[in-house]
Amino acid sequence: MTEQLFAEMLNLGDKWEVSKLEVLAEQSCIEVTIKDTAKLLEGMECPCCKRTDLIIKDHANERLWDHLQMWTYKTVLKCRLPRALCKSCKKTWTIRAPWEGVNKHSSKDFEALALTLMRHMPVSKVGKLMKVDDQKLWRILRVYIDKERAKLDWSELTRIGVDELSIAKGHRYVSVFVDMENHSVLFAADGKDAQVFEQFTEELYLKDGHPHAITEVSMDMSPSYKSGVDSNMRNARKVFDYFHIAQNLNKAIGKVCSRERRTKGDIRNLLKKPRLFQKNRDKLKEKDQQTIEKLKELNTATAMAYQMRLSLQDIFKTKSEIKALLGLKAWISWVHNEAEKEMWKYFLNPLKKFAESLTKHFDGIIARWMHSDILRSNLKFDLR
Ligand SMILES: [Zn+2]
Repeated sequence: MTEQLFAEMLNLGDKWEVSKLEVLAEQSCIEVTIKDTAKLLEGMECPCCKRTDLIIKDHANERLWDHLQMWTYKTVLKCRLPRALCKSCKKTWTIRAPWEGVNKHSSKDFEALALTLMRHMPVSKVGKLMKVDDQKLWRILRVYIDKERAKLDWSELTRIGVDELSIAKGHRYVSVFVDMENHSVLFAADGKDAQVFEQFTEELYLKDGHPHAITEVSMDMSPSYKSGVDSNMRNARKVFDYFHIAQNLNKAIGKVCSRERRTKGDIRNLLKKPRLFQKNRDKLKEKDQQTIEKLKELNTATAMAYQMRLSLQDIFKTKSEIKALLGLKAWISWVHNEAEKEMWKYFLNPLKKFAESLTKHFDGIIARWMHSDILRSNLKFDLR
């Protein structure tokens, strides 16, 4: 009865059936054993000679496929796949499991869910949710990317984006290349150094594209990506988007806050939540708003840094290129001036460093106003 129900849920049809269900309470796992029925060979033909005179010769060793979870239980499909023999030409082959996905060890349903979740959350989080190893999810993703890109012609490719993705909890990095016109994923290369651009360039040639046809690369401000673009795509303008700039800004503000917290014992309490200063004003709870007001009254560097953050954010919301250019220049000199003041010199130094990086990459930052649609949020396949 329950076996029948599982067979229906798995959409097995009449060629396969569930022969055994086992609940392994300790491992929070349900094992579903599937076997072929007498109808398996109906309508099947030999892949070699196309004749239908087939028999089941024997069964291969048992294999396992990860399947969807049921509540807190993980489901695993088990089967000894039948091997068919053609009586006419004597060919033997293992019959493919209809539930198998692109990965040999997971079901189609499992992969569909994993891919959907990976569009919305980091791979490590999906791994926890689905109770599987990150590496496995990454392999599935990779096979799908490979399948997608095999279909593509890159001869029209001019605007690309590249971003690093951390897998295996930060022990390994992968650089993902994206087409900024249609926001599709093009290519993934191991590592996050300049060399990934060489790998991408090789692929580009294979797909009838040309590195000198690339006019724009959207990326973070890492020196290795920069040198990768410089040595491979000489006509490309480097564009730094707000997403990455905001990341660096938040890091700098975090440092300002912790410097002040470490040295000013009397206000330590007000500074114990550094994440608060990375939030937008409208996302703050009333209590947090009061904290920021107090820090402002006390003339703290952290409150100043927060003001600077809000003002930079406003500049990035500007649609006009000239306003953005003037605003950014004014913002940078504002930060430098405040950071020169004796009482803030030490505390605001991380923010000063950040402002210096903006100056260094000024052209690349301003370039985003030329193509205002370069916003990470537009990515259909956001991997973060
Ligand atoms: Zn045959």
